[in-house]
Amino acid sequence: MAESNDWTCTKAEWDALAKPSALAQFIFRMTLLLDLLLVVGLCAAWSFIKLPFVLHFLLWIALAMFLIGVGSWTWVRRATPRWIALHGVVWEARGCACPWCKTRVDTTPCKRHGFSAAAQPQLLAYWEALAMRDMSAIEFRTAELRRLAESLRPPANIALRLWRGVTAPYRRAKAHAVTASSDSNATALMRVRAAVPSWLFLGAGCAILGTLVYAIFGRSIFLGVLSGCWYVIPLTIVAAVIGPMSRAGRLRCTKCFQLCADATPSRCPECGSDLTKAGAVDRHSRPMGSRWAPMLIFALMISLPMLLAVTGGFGVMSQLPLSMQMWCHSWTSPPHGFFRSLTVATLSPAEAATAAQLLIAQAAPDGSRPVFDFDFLVKALASGKVPQSTREVAARATVLAELELATKDGVTTATVAPEFGALILGDDATPRFVFGGISVDGGAWSASSALSLMHHDLDSFWRALKPADSPLSILPESQLRYVTALALTPGTHEIRARGWIVLSGKAYKRFVPTFDLDGGLLRTPEMSGVYEIELHESVTIR
Ligand SMILES: [Zn+2]
Ligand SMILES: [Zn+2]
Repeated sequence: MAESNDWTCTKAEWDALAKPSALAQFIFRMTLLLDLLLVVGLCAAWSFIKLPFVLHFLLWIALAMFLIGVGSWTWVRRATPRWIALHGVVWEARGCACPWCKTRVDTTPCKRHGFSAAAQPQLLAYWEALAMRDMSAIEFRTAELRRLAESLRPPANIALRLWRGVTAPYRRAKAHAVTASSDSNATALMRVRAAVPSWLFLGAGCAILGTLVYAIFGRSIFLGVLSGCWYVIPLTIVAAVIGPMSRAGRLRCTKCFQLCADATPSRCPECGSDLTKAGAVDRHSRPMGSRWAPMLIFALMISLPMLLAVTGGFGVMSQLPLSMQMWCHSWTSPPHGFFRSLTVATLSPAEAATAAQLLIAQAAPDGSRPVFDFDFLVKALASGKVPQSTREVAARATVLAELELATKDGVTTATVAPEFGALILGDDATPRFVFGGISVDGGAWSASSALSLMHHDLDSFWRALKPADSPLSILPESQLRYVTALALTPGTHEIRARGWIVLSGKAYKRFVPTFDLDGGLLRTPEMSGVYEIELHESVTIR
């Protein structure tokens, strides 16, 4: 067989690409097995010993990881035989094969990219970069092939053509950066300078995305994203300074690291290994050399934020003065651990009041997200740092009620529907809504309802629980609002509804109110707060 002289890498390097790594396979299978055990274990714990709800999400993460693992395993199983078949063809065709269509293109060009024998130099360069495991060359050659495919087969789709046109400046800037990074003669400064335009484009893209989110959802995500992902910015700069993680060096024996004497070695002069065997030689086993310091910084920069995230001190936001943090959080909503990080004893009354305001705004029914309040308000009230009236403010912000009138076929119905925010008033002061009747034109109140409602009655999470797991009986949909039918004479009528917010008892006990002869709520010592709600609405009957 005639030697294919076009290749600058050896057959042994090329063959290593079709030799699966036993270690990688072992690690992958072990990870999958452990993950499966975790899923089974969590399921068992869930059904036998009633795991707390907070661990629910662990099961989902484990299950998702397992599905991803199985998915990639099946994908690898399907792709491997195809790759092994193509692998031999690529060598024989002197690299003249499309990496995406996985077909030989020297006889018939591939349909999707238009590669033919004319593209052989670029295709060969790509496959060689792969064989030499030269990261920067792989990136550079892939970009080169992509550009070539685009010029050979311009997209027919209008939307795709428009997208390509809009992103063309960014892709040009990116190609510039990739070219500089693959150039082994380029200095760190040259790499950074070449990368700056692509960074500017990315920054502009993020700004546009953030503005769009703000315009559509009315929430600013800039500070939140910056606080969580700030390290991406220095990381990107350091990556450009360091340059590619691996570059093809000189051919060495994999076993003893002895440099090979010529480009097509057959036997190692040092250890006598057969260098024509798959994976017997490579070019990337060169030691790190003088780059260990930037590599260390790089590794630290990747691991430090994760470490901070695990320990709860994530982001630079927590380094800012508290008043500034709270101002930022009023825009971006605080992170989950924010209220835990506050120590009431060390706060000034002004800080405590601002934090309480922030918490109440988050906890309101239309607040931005579920709150982990760590009983901040309870502690602040107990310490006297916030005025006692804050309790009422919080109760009224987290229990809302609405009166709605509808007339159909001569019958007017008055519907009072309560809404609940997060529970922030402490374990023993769960806010409830007690309905106190309807009054037409200042007349007597209709009957009060002995059925009080609270957060869990309406919340979708609690409503979705199996009855056995629910601390309260799950009420039918029809009992979540108070409907009163009214027979009204023609004319305009003033309809009033009354109710009370009662702070009483633990969430898992249903509160049963008692009333006086006029239907007014009787107050008992267990109630730590009672706040009346009055609603009114007028209706005209023809
Ligand atoms: Zn193709
Ligand atoms: Zn050797």
